[in-house]
Amino acid sequence: MKLHKTTTAAAAALVLSLALTACGKGGGGDKGADGGGKITIGIKYDQPGLGLKKPDGSFAGFDVDVARYVAGELGYDAKDIEWKQAPSAERENMIANGDVTFVVASYSITDERKQRVDFAGPYLLAHQDLLVRSGDTSITKAGDLNSKKLCSVTGSTSAQNVKKELAPKAQLLEVGGYSECLTGLENKAVDALTTDDSILAGYAAQKEHQGKFRLAGLRLSDENYGIGLKKGDTDLKNKINAALKKMVSDGSWQKAVTANFGPAHYKNEPAPAVTG
Ligand code: GLU
Repeated sequence: MKLHKTTTAAAAALVLSLALTACGKGGGGDKGADGGGKITIGIKYDQPGLGLKKPDGSFAGFDVDVARYVAGELGYDAKDIEWKQAPSAERENMIANGDVTFVVASYSITDERKQRVDFAGPYLLAHQDLLVRSGDTSITKAGDLNSKKLCSVTGSTSAQNVKKELAPKAQLLEVGGYSECLTGLENKAVDALTTDDSILAGYAAQKEHQGKFRLAGLRLSDENYGIGLKKGDTDLKNKINAALKKMVSDGSWQKAVTANFGPAHYKNEPAPAVTG
């Protein structure tokens, strides 16, 4: 019994030290520390065109391309990147806890979030919109939303905008990821999925959804996407900003836009000036 206890304690200590090591590596993304050098980056896994984990386990999307480019400028090969799913409600926590070095996940720069994390960027300007069933013409303006059932994601600006200003009287279903709203939209459990047009265009264009949904085309907000990183890490922020500027000036930004948004016919805004 005593032996068992000791073993358990030793095992617990080992697990703890391993966890701490893993945490240190992931958070720091320090190339020099172990020679090999890995970097952990938070992205979305269920947003086609932006951040998508494909059935074969590979990752694709505009955010993924931005993340790869920035990591490259920081000295990391594509194979050195460890991807982590960063749900909307978890992003600040993941950054603050050091689970990831930075987050590139349709992450709008807001004053509230700036209390907990810093942002490099912006690198894309999107607008909140609605995805509705193709035949539904009952939503043409924000004022139509108060009588509707909407679906969005916990911890997103989209959900917050609905509750605070756009449609405080609407019924709002909040889920963990936008893709979870699609079945409800199809079977009429909800009337619309609301979030950024950049995300909605990707869903509308998916093979299995073709012809079923359309974007309402309302520009309900300005969403400036930034790269979230640990508060106070000015050195990393400056390096990421420099990488983003280079991505635009050398044509890689436009290439990534065309490759990722082209198939969904998403008409993106021009590259915003990096001000972060
Ligand atoms: N860009 C918005 C946000 O940061 C909505 C998209 C998302 O939830 O990732 O909250």
